[in-house]
Amino acid sequence: MPISKKDRRTREHKKGDAAGTRAAVRPNGTPVKAPKPTSICQNCRKEIVSTMRVQLEDHASTHSGEWTKEKCWPNDFPAEGAAGAATT
Ligand SMILES: [Zn+2]
Repeated sequence: MPISKKDRRTREHKKGDAAGTRAAVRPNGTPVKAPKPTSICQNCRKEIVSTMRVQLEDHASTHSGEWTKEKCWPNDFPAEGAAGAATT
Protein backbone atom coordinates (compact mmCIF):
# COMPACT_ATOMS: atom_id res chain seq x y z
CA MET A 1 0.00 0.00 0.00
CA PRO A 2 1.50 3.34 -1.05
CA ILE A 3 2.05 5.81 1.72
CA SER A 4 0.28 9.11 1.58
CA LYS A 5 1.97 12.43 1.02
CA LYS A 6 1.36 13.31 4.62
CA ASP A 7 2.88 10.08 5.86
CA ARG A 8 5.95 10.66 3.75
CA ARG A 9 6.33 14.17 5.10
CA THR A 10 5.96 12.90 8.63
CA ARG A 11 8.66 10.33 7.97
CA GLU A 12 10.97 12.96 6.57
CA HIS A 13 10.39 15.06 9.62
CA LYS A 14 11.19 12.12 11.86
CA LYS A 15 14.34 11.44 9.90
CA GLY A 16 15.32 15.06 10.18
CA ASP A 17 14.58 15.05 13.87
CA ALA A 18 16.77 12.01 14.39
CA ALA A 19 19.60 13.61 12.45
CA GLY A 20 19.05 16.97 14.10
CA THR A 21 18.79 18.67 10.75
CA ARG A 22 15.14 19.64 10.72
CA ALA A 23 14.47 23.28 11.33
CA ALA A 24 11.58 23.74 13.70
CA VAL A 25 8.58 25.23 11.97
CA ARG A 26 5.14 26.14 13.17
CA PRO A 27 2.13 24.35 11.70
CA ASN A 28 1.59 27.34 9.42
CA GLY A 29 5.10 26.98 8.01
CA THR A 30 6.90 29.87 9.67
CA PRO A 31 10.17 28.95 11.36
CA VAL A 32 10.17 28.84 15.13
CA LYS A 33 12.69 31.22 16.59
CA ALA A 34 14.75 30.22 19.55
CA PRO A 35 13.21 31.64 22.71
CA LYS A 36 14.94 34.77 23.92
CA PRO A 37 16.57 34.64 27.31
CA THR A 38 14.61 36.64 29.82
CA SER A 39 15.31 38.02 33.25
CA ILE A 40 12.81 38.28 36.08
CA CYS A 41 12.76 41.44 38.17
CA GLN A 42 13.66 40.60 41.74
CA ASN A 43 11.24 43.24 42.96
CA CYS A 44 8.02 42.80 41.00
CA ARG A 45 8.71 39.59 39.04
CA LYS A 46 8.31 41.32 35.70
CA GLU A 47 9.93 39.43 32.84
CA ILE A 48 12.07 41.34 30.35
CA VAL A 49 14.32 40.06 27.58
CA SER A 50 17.84 39.97 29.01
CA THR A 51 19.45 41.55 25.98
CA MET A 52 17.29 44.67 26.22
CA ARG A 53 19.64 46.44 28.60
CA VAL A 54 17.93 49.79 28.19
CA GLN A 55 14.59 48.28 29.06
CA LEU A 56 16.08 46.62 32.10
CA GLU A 57 17.50 49.92 33.27
CA ASP A 58 14.30 51.76 32.47
CA HIS A 59 12.33 49.25 34.42
CA ALA A 60 14.62 49.49 37.42
CA SER A 61 14.17 53.26 37.41
CA THR A 62 10.42 52.77 37.88
CA HIS A 63 11.14 51.36 41.30
CA SER A 64 11.65 53.97 43.91
CA GLY A 65 14.65 54.95 45.94
CA GLU A 66 17.42 52.49 46.55
CA TRP A 67 16.06 49.77 44.35
CA THR A 68 18.84 49.85 41.76
CA LYS A 69 19.08 47.95 38.51
CA GLU A 70 21.65 45.72 40.20
CA LYS A 71 18.96 44.69 42.66
CA CYS A 72 16.32 44.24 39.99
CA TRP A 73 18.57 42.20 37.71
CA PRO A 74 21.53 40.80 39.67
CA ASN A 75 22.36 38.42 36.84
CA ASP A 76 22.50 41.17 34.23
CA PHE A 77 24.07 43.89 36.33
CA PRO A 78 26.43 42.21 38.78
CA ALA A 79 27.36 44.61 41.54
CA GLU A 80 30.99 45.19 40.61
CA GLY A 81 31.31 48.18 42.89
CA ALA A 82 30.86 45.98 45.93
CA ALA A 83 34.61 45.61 46.31
CA GLY A 84 35.03 49.36 46.48
CA ALA A 85 36.20 49.88 42.91
CA ALA A 86 34.65 53.20 41.98
CA THR A 87 35.18 53.58 38.26
CA THR A 88 33.19 56.56 37.12
ZN1 LIG B 1 10.46 45.46 38.81
